[in-house]
Amino acid sequence: GSSLPIKIDSADAAEKFIDNYDTFLFDCDGVLWLGSSLLPNVSETLSLLRAKGKNLYFVTNNSTKSRNAYAKKFESFGISVREDQIFTSSYAAALYVRDSLKLEPGKDKVWVAGEAGIIDELGLMGYETLGGTDPRLDEPFDSQNSPFLVNSLDPDVKCVVAGLDTRINYHRLAVSLQYLQRTDVSFVATNLDSTFPLKGMTLPGAGSIVQSLEKASGRTAVACGKPNQNMLKSIIAATNIDPSRTCMVGDRLDTDMKFGSEGRLGTFLVLTGIETENNILNPDTQHTKPQYYAGSLSLLYELTNV
Ligand code: PLP
Ligand code: CA
Repeated sequence: GSSLPIKIDSADAAEKFIDNYDTFLFDCDGVLWLGSSLLPNVSETLSLLRAKGKNLYFVTNNSTKSRNAYAKKFESFGISVREDQIFTSSYAAALYVRDSLKLEPGKDKVWVAGEAGIIDELGLMGYETLGGTDPRLDEPFDSQNSPFLVNSLDPDVKCVVAGLDTRINYHRLAVSLQYLQRTDVSFVATNLDSTFPLKGMTLPGAGSIVQSLEKASGRTAVACGKPNQNMLKSIIAATNIDPSRTCMVGDRLDTDMKFGSEGRLGTFLVLTGIETENNILNPDTQHTKPQYYAGSLSLLYELTNV
């Protein structure tokens, strides 16, 4: 937005903010938890919103887990969330393969440069995947002996889907590139996050892997996660939410706030993840500013429960 973000720092401000919306879309990492640690009072805050009749959905750019595996992560924190309330960038990529590329399940195949989330979501739609976590790709690259190259490339592969891959190595990059050099193979990315935070460290994100494949191939991937508006469209189609009564809650300007702002949703930034108060108040930032911000999501609960 163009006006100055409103800081939520009183019970009155929190209540007014909550009353503006029927639905909240939550980014996960940096908002609800950091890696495997749930942030304080997050459960209480979600319960408060549910008690007020709000619809809650969860929208993550983490492509490494399927929606089902994400539901289990919520369960491990004692938060009950159904699979159909979760949207991940790997699911968004699978929807793109099916609905935009119109690949034929059972016939067309997908080469995966990424983890189980991508493989599982494509598998649920009936697509056979190659590559991914296949342990034969852990072997050092040998162009003459790679089992993925000796009998030539699989002509049924019609798409490469790339996302975060903590096993990424030269073998995976090299075979991915062979597919990307084919003109009948599409190039899809789950997300382009440059980094992600883990246990006090900043680690290379999916964008750093996608960009190395873009550099090698001279091609540009279609990125399906936030801020791509197709992801929002698929959420609206699946849930019937009213965008004008929906707020995106996130910790990152260039993904979450851009996603919400471009979709004409309300936007609420929390400071428990990537961004600092300086970042959002700095008049020079080129990134989308939120309409609202607060130190943490839990302030919605803490400020109103006194
Ligand atoms: N990608 C990966 C691999 C991650 O591990 C994370 C966070 O854990 C993210 C992206 C960002 O996820 P979110 O959109 O929930 O902040
Ligand atoms: Ca986040």
